[in-house]
Amino acid sequence: MKTAVAKFGGTSLANAVQFQKVAQIVQADPSRRFIVVSAPGKRFSDDIKVTDLLGQCFRLAAAGKDFEEPLHQVEARYREILDGLALDFPLAEEIDTLREHLKGEPQRAYVESRGEYLSARILALLLDYTFVDPAWCICFNEDGTLDAAMTRRAMGAALRPLQCAVIAGFYGADGNGTIHTFSRGGSDVTGSLAACAIGADLYENWTDVSGLLAADPRIVEHPRTVEYMSYRELRTLSYMGASVLHTDSVLPASDMGIPINIRNTNRPQDAGTMIVRKLPKGQKKYPIVGVAGRKGMDVIQVEKVMASDGSGFSAIILDILKQRQLPFEYCLTGIDSVTLIIRSDLLTPCKEDLFAEIRQELNPDYLGFKQNLSLIAVVGEKDSETNDANVRILQALTGAGVEISTINQGAGKLNLLIGVPEEKYEPAIRAIYATM
Ligand code: ASP
Repeated sequence: MKTAVAKFGGTSLANAVQFQKVAQIVQADPSRRFIVVSAPGKRFSDDIKVTDLLGQCFRLAAAGKDFEEPLHQVEARYREILDGLALDFPLAEEIDTLREHLKGEPQRAYVESRGEYLSARILALLLDYTFVDPAWCICFNEDGTLDAAMTRRAMGAALRPLQCAVIAGFYGADGNGTIHTFSRGGSDVTGSLAACAIGADLYENWTDVSGLLAADPRIVEHPRTVEYMSYRELRTLSYMGASVLHTDSVLPASDMGIPINIRNTNRPQDAGTMIVRKLPKGQKKYPIVGVAGRKGMDVIQVEKVMASDGSGFSAIILDILKQRQLPFEYCLTGIDSVTLIIRSDLLTPCKEDLFAEIRQELNPDYLGFKQNLSLIAVVGEKDSETNDANVRILQALTGAGVEISTINQGAGKLNLLIGVPEEKYEPAIRAIYATM
């Protein structure tokens, strides 16, 4: 029998009705043996996520202030869920345990992890699955980084003997038993690690959208849902802001070649987006899978005659950035010039010092600086149509009156990066989408 790990996000578990939908989805397919859960998320747009309420409890407690109000709200969220599901669960005792912890020397990660812990215990009771506490099998180092090798062994050992289990997402523990969490949205990472540890056939990620959209719906009206995309395409699009999955969750699954299926808990009939290493045979291939971008970029241009004479001009510039731990979005080298695109929020605080260092080290003929650029990534695995796609994109941008400030395409992929002035960002995205 096939085995799937199914992870359900915060909106999928926001109230009793959502818990019921999750139970129906799990029970509809016996391959869904290992379930990973988030804490209850928002029920409506102004609502507060349980993890944020727990964060408030921690901050108040750590400052020696009264934390009863947010703690009461946490209890009320779970009470509503338990009453709606008619489950008998020792909620008052669990809340008391948390209260006692908060009265002592509270630990942020422990407090914030209780949302996932309670969700998992309640869903395990509802499904009659075994509850797995990740404090036993998601192994962190004391500095808060993940010990991936140890986690794989411990998770495999914990899950393999079980027929069905619910695992709390988002946290784990170090060798001393101290709780650590991933960054926000980290239950996706737990799901991916669980899928790898048991060698699952599929990692389902259930959320509140029916997959990844080919463009930002705030800019393009009703963009199409991507049916299939590769791990690499997903990484690029999520880096550029089109995020449905925590970025750290993609690598473990892609290393093992486990397909990730993004699904919608509120529309389980939708097939969602399948993220795979290779498109299955016969599947329609779009030359452009998606388009995404980011505003707030600056451009630095360094020019010097004979820069490309092998004296390491570009290497020196990149070394200066490395010493300063200043990441760049991309670097384009020409015959006598180097162009760098850097996020403005990172560059602004050190711009003057950086320019002084470049002048001192390289004595350039020209050092140029431009602000307010946006960077657009057009993503798609290369195929015979790629050149045609590039031509259509450039024609569309010109036709929409968008000035192309920079353009960069690596060999082997259509991963085209285009810099356009910020005020032309939205028309540029729309023009590119229209060619897809
Ligand atoms: N509950 C955590 C958050 O709100 C983790 C997660 O949902 O994955 O970020």
